[in-house]
Amino acid sequence: MTTCTDEPSPEGDEAGPSHLGQTKKRMLQRLVAEHGTPIFIIDHERIRKNYREFRALMPTVQIYYAVKANSNPAIVKTLYDLGSSFDVASMPEFMIVWENIKDMPEKERQDWIWDKIIYANTIKPIETLEALDQYKPLVTFDNCFELEKIRTHAPHAGLVLRLRVPNTGSMVELSSKFGADPGEAVDLIIQAFSLGLVVEGLSFHVGSQCTNFENYIQALEISANIIREAESRTGRRIKILDIGGGFPVKYHAGVRSVRTLARKLNAEIKRLFAPDIQILAEPGRFLVANSCILVAKVIGKAFRDGKPCYYINDGVYHTYSGQVFDHVNYPVRAFRDGEKLISAVFGPTCDAFDTITLSAELPDLCIGDLVYSENMGAYTIASSTYFNGFPPAKVVHINR
Ligand SMILES: *Cc1c(COP(=O)(O)O)cnc(C)c1O
Repeated sequence: MTTCTDEPSPEGDEAGPSHLGQTKKRMLQRLVAEHGTPIFIIDHERIRKNYREFRALMPTVQIYYAVKANSNPAIVKTLYDLGSSFDVASMPEFMIVWENIKDMPEKERQDWIWDKIIYANTIKPIETLEALDQYKPLVTFDNCFELEKIRTHAPHAGLVLRLRVPNTGSMVELSSKFGADPGEAVDLIIQAFSLGLVVEGLSFHVGSQCTNFENYIQALEISANIIREAESRTGRRIKILDIGGGFPVKYHAGVRSVRTLARKLNAEIKRLFAPDIQILAEPGRFLVANSCILVAKVIGKAFRDGKPCYYINDGVYHTYSGQVFDHVNYPVRAFRDGEKLISAVFGPTCDAFDTITLSAELPDLCIGDLVYSENMGAYTIASSTYFNGFPPAKVVHINR
């Protein structure tokens, strides 16, 4: 058993494999020495790598980063510099992207927005529509009430009809809240054109962290049928198909590779759609999840019913909020090596709900020791709160 007079976090030379290499651990320790804890470290090179991987796997697909996954402005800037487009779902998200284009000449900026922003929240406050109208972005809708709102308050926007498609087996289900039933889609498109609006395309979302690739295949078929019927009944072209997000991240070894998915998507898109259709995708999680690590500190320790319990300075009201809202578990790991014991890890707030895990496998830890979790880039710090007076983790950028 470790005695707690040891120096915290010795450079583990004891037995037992640890997840991060020693070089990486030392780098994190240096950042902790400089910035304190908890820190949320964003590796921009990893984001660039993910973006390039997606491009290589699906070269005909234009990437619209879903800003809600992680709206840190520096992430948006890194993706902007790579030529990414953006999916925004609120005015504040729109403004984060705007920061990068505000100095463009107005005409150029107008073209950029038309080309590279989709406002992909099907429900938009009237004030937002009024603010957006001058920029003429693409906006999604999925019902006739929204259509009336758009006609009155943002008649210059281009429209994309969001379809309800199967979300079977996806970790985060979206089809209960969004998407027009395929049976009413063509009528909505006809209605939009008859109101003088322009339907540029269709979109769908198969659910986030989608590991059931059949969802995408079915969604493509549903979309192809609707496009065929809508074009023949309106005499207008549907130019865009937005295949949404959902691209899965390897949180653990069991997740099927996005390569397999890309192969299927490329083949089905080629089979089902006209060669000149523009294909958009809105990956969120895929671009950022594996780019971020959280490092926190053990601030308290107890034995409860004989089990070691560690209290750390980040929890489910903070960076681990993804465990609640995103249904992902983030294993807590130690910098220290040693024999593993089943342990509980709690966050810092005065709520028992603030429980990160009751079954971490951790060596005997001391107060002041560091712990970390990987793959924390998506839907984590984005939903962090100030509950109980504890602020979100400090963000630190590397390889910017
Ligand atoms: C959340 C969201 C995304 C991103 O989904 P991921 O599963 O993170 O890729 C894309 N499009 C829309 C409309 C969304 O709401």
